[in-house]
Parts: sequence; structure tokens; C-alpha cells
Amino acid sequence: MSDVLHLARPEIRALEAYQHAPWEPSLERLHANENPWRIDGDTTRAGLNRYPEPYAFEVERALASLYGVAPEQVLAGRGSDEAIDLLTRGFCAAGHDAVLQCPPTFGMYKVAARIQGAEVIERPLLRARGWAIDPAAILAAMTPRVKLVYVCTPNNPTGNDTDAATLLPLAKQLSGRALLVVDEAYVEFAARPSLANHLAEHDNLVVLRTLSKAYALAGARCGALLAAPSIVELLRKMIQPYALPTPTQEAVLAALQPANLTEARARIARIIEERDRLALALAPLVTRVWPSAANFVLVESAEPARLVAKGRAAGFLLRDFEKTIPGALRITVGSPEQNARLIVGLERA
Ligand SMILES: *Cc1c(COP(=O)(O)O)cnc(C)c1O
Repeated sequence: MSDVLHLARPEIRALEAYQHAPWEPSLERLHANENPWRIDGDTTRAGLNRYPEPYAFEVERALASLYGVAPEQVLAGRGSDEAIDLLTRGFCAAGHDAVLQCPPTFGMYKVAARIQGAEVIERPLLRARGWAIDPAAILAAMTPRVKLVYVCTPNNPTGNDTDAATLLPLAKQLSGRALLVVDEAYVEFAARPSLANHLAEHDNLVVLRTLSKAYALAGARCGALLAAPSIVELLRKMIQPYALPTPTQEAVLAALQPANLTEARARIARIIEERDRLALALAPLVTRVWPSAANFVLVESAEPARLVAKGRAAGFLLRDFEKTIPGALRITVGSPEQNARLIVGLERA
């Protein structure tokens, strides 16, 4: 296997990470200039007066077991958004390198690239083929400057899923040239296993996962980058020490307890059922309902603004995608009660 780190910025490869205060929870801490007393109302186990574990290894072990990978293949961060930022800064030299993405897709890849001064090359999804990616066009667009190729699957906002039979050959063809970053923020709602099972075979494959959607922790901000240990080690040098706050670490560890995981899986199944029900109910109200493998539905309407207004009158925010896909709206699957109320609101004349 090639040494995938030759794709990274040389100065990041050479970087020495910040030396944080040692983490030895069995001893009392007089080495980090913390306050000895907790504030009133501090309900955390560890105490907010103390710094959290500098790199969230306990959380990463729990995420490794959730995702079925080794702890060395996991970097936990503040949402998968942080992973996107670290990848961009670690692999793209400002003013020189590029990322490739397939619009319409998640907006953060482009924003992170622009902030870093990396070029954004686009090879659109094929609408006529249900928003499929175009691997031939992606490969034809490759130059030595393209360091990251993003595929979001299931894709936000179109909802369609790309299978492993398409992605693994692409990873192979990009091997030695670029990382294939597969954003699986919604994979729990899709009918296929994660690509994380294939990390060992592809050292340039990076899988992004998040607890924000399926695990109901959007407010905690925790996501995971799953990749070859060498990539995880490289990006760990760049992440801020103490990136995951104590309340986040404790909330994640609690959410990943077996009883909570059983409940989370039952709720994922309910959202999938509700998604299919919502899609059926929306069909007569719009011109198109795109099939979804996620927890949202993309619809198209001749009067999208009217639908948004009706949703608002019923008390709901819907996401208008008019700018990227004419007539399109993205609707998140809510509780059965919310979905029913939304449909009544949209049916109103
Ligand atoms: C929501 C979303 C994320 C961001 O997740 P966080 O972990 O909350 O940062 C990443 N990718 C896609 C495609 C998303 O829709």
C-alpha cells in the first residue's frame, strides 16, 4: 500500500503537536492551573472546573465500537464539520491545491476549501440518473492538485445513496492521488452498511460519521473521522487539545450505553417508516418527490415559495433549495404528530 501521507502538506507532516498537561485521572490536579471549586449547578461528572480529557480517547473507543472499527482509526471532533476543516487544512496548500465535489451537495466542503484558499472543482451529480455521481467525470477532472474528492452519501440535499460497488472502485482509482472522503452523515437511515468496513483495503478512504442526526446529539457537537491510523495521527496533531467539552464527552458516553443504543435504533426505524409515509402524503401536493435514503425528503414544486409560506403558517421551517435546484424544498422527517400537522398545513388552500 502506498504511503498516503505524501498527499498531506509537508509542514503538517513535520508539525509537532502541542504538549498538553499530562492526563492522569487517578491523581489530584495541581498541574493545569484550574480552579479547585465547581460552580453551583454544575451537573457534570468530571466537573466543569477541570479541563476535559485532552484528546477524547474514551469517546473514541466508544465510537470505534459503535462503528465497528479500531480505536486507531477514529478521530472524534466537534461534528463532522471539524473533520472537513481538518482535512482541508491538512491536505490542501493555500493557493495551490484543490478539492473536488459533486453538487448539489452539502455546503461545508466548499466553505472549508474557500477559507483555506483551496480551489473548488465541481462535477455535478446526474439528475437524469437520480442524482448519481459521475465517476468518469470525476476521474477526468483529476489533476495532481486535487487532494480531496468528496462524495456525500446519502447525499444532502437530494437524499439518494451511492453504493459500495461504485465507491470502492473509485477509491482504488484515486489511490496515491487523492483521498476519497465519503460523508455518511445519514447512513443510519440507508439500506446498506457503512463503507467503514473497507478502510483496511483502501488507505486513501476517509469516512465521516456524526452523532448529530441518527443519534439525536446535534447540540452536543460530536462527529467522527474514520480513516487509516496514519491519517488519524496526522490530523490529531492539528485538532485543538480539549476540543470536545466535558458536557459533550459525558453526553456521548451516556448516549452510547447499550440501553440508549437500543432506543436509538428503534427511533431510526421509526424515522424510516415516517419518511416513507411523509413521501406518500407529499406526492399529491408537489410535482416531484425524490426517493430518500436519509431523514429528509427533497421535493419539487411549481410554487415552492407558497409551500414554504404554508409550512410557516403551520409553524414549521422548511428549507428552500431554489438557488441550487429550481423549485426544490428539503423537508426533515419529524415526529408522526409533526408530520401529520405539516401535511394538514400544506393541504390548506
Ligand atoms: C449535517 C451534516 C453534517 C454535519 O454534521 P455535524 O457532525 O453536525 O457537523 C455533515 N455532512 C452532512 C452531509 C450533513 O448533512
